[in-house]
Amino acid sequence: MTDPIEATARSIAERTDELVALTVDLVRFPTINPPGEAYAPCAEYIGRRMQASGFEVSYMRGHDTPGDTDAYPRTNVIARLEGKRLGPTVHFNSHIDVVEVGHDWSVDPFEATVRDGKVFGRGTCDMKGGLAASIVAVESYIRANPDFPGAIEVSGTVDEESGGIGGVAYLASKGLFSKPRVDHVIIPEPLNKDRVCLGHRGVWWAEIETRGEIAHGSMPFAGDCAVRHMGAVIEAFERDLFPALAAKRTKMPVVPDGAKQSTMNINSIHGGMSDDYTGLPSANVPDSCKLVIDRRFLIEEQLEEVKAEVIDILEGLKAGRPKFDYSITDVLEVLPLMTDKDGPVAQAVSDGIRHVFGREPDYVISPGTYDQKHIARIGHLHDCVAYGPGILDLAHRPDEFVGIDDMVESATVMAHAMHHLLTGRS
Ligand SMILES: [Zn+2]
Repeated sequence: MTDPIEATARSIAERTDELVALTVDLVRFPTINPPGEAYAPCAEYIGRRMQASGFEVSYMRGHDTPGDTDAYPRTNVIARLEGKRLGPTVHFNSHIDVVEVGHDWSVDPFEATVRDGKVFGRGTCDMKGGLAASIVAVESYIRANPDFPGAIEVSGTVDEESGGIGGVAYLASKGLFSKPRVDHVIIPEPLNKDRVCLGHRGVWWAEIETRGEIAHGSMPFAGDCAVRHMGAVIEAFERDLFPALAAKRTKMPVVPDGAKQSTMNINSIHGGMSDDYTGLPSANVPDSCKLVIDRRFLIEEQLEEVKAEVIDILEGLKAGRPKFDYSITDVLEVLPLMTDKDGPVAQAVSDGIRHVFGREPDYVISPGTYDQKHIARIGHLHDCVAYGPGILDLAHRPDEFVGIDDMVESATVMAHAMHHLLTGRS
């Protein structure tokens, strides 16, 4: 009898051209988020593909979630195939949205150029290459092992890049990421083909506003400049906050190395007249200045402490700086997450990596969050990891690409993990 894993691996390797063609097709849907372009046709393309392999396909629109309109529907696709006898369900979840293109591309970002063993284009790495690899892994596996037990699911979900509310969070709220329907989830995000990603750091986004008093710009002394107040905030951050954050180190295996500490990005600053006005500005003392901060925190930190560090600085300024006043509004909160590295899915993927690459996997933590958070917090399903092809550092960059060999190898790891989870055999 042929070994089911070897038969699947052979089938994946033989279908390399098909894997590339699938990736190209997926990249050609310009699923830019925001606003959520081409979601429905991309989801329907995946649905037709899975239907052809015998999967039962359903579409679920994240009605009334952020950005959902008839022009930009939040269309998710879920495909499920029951095995020949009872057993666990393995689910592959990929987001279909991509971020804006940005500048400095040397190729058309939605042409999906194939060159030098790579596919170039927006979303190749993050994460249509991973989605294509999981689909080919599943198709090859069920062809080679038609009598598999349990069930296999593949989903293509929206809005991961903007928080996943209309995507995985919505589906999780409908019970699609909970037991007994699903037992194990693999998210083929680009964390590199020989690494198992167990979770991510926490996030706190907030908007700080300083206020002043409007007056004629020729007589600034008659008003109170909100931008100068914000300057004092940034100065205090530089002096007191950034060094303190850099000093906090984590035991989480975060990659890359620079993210093994607490970090904060100043996401935007705006004060005074709107910059989309092209005429000469009017002479005003600005009475409002807004700053958005993006604070990433560690499993060793509590969210309340993270907030208090910033609020203490603002309160200090309020006590010491004449006329200083501020408000602060939470924009997004995500707690850090780290699944058990000895859990079934992490071990099944690790086993696949050992089998395909002949070496021990690295266990890592992502610097930024991804949809695992909704599966854990809303679905209460904790047996979930991210594993997929693509080099993390290329995500969101110009000339993003995914390696063809990397897709083939990681599809083989996925098939191995799937077999291990479904049958309990390695
Ligand atoms: Zn992604």
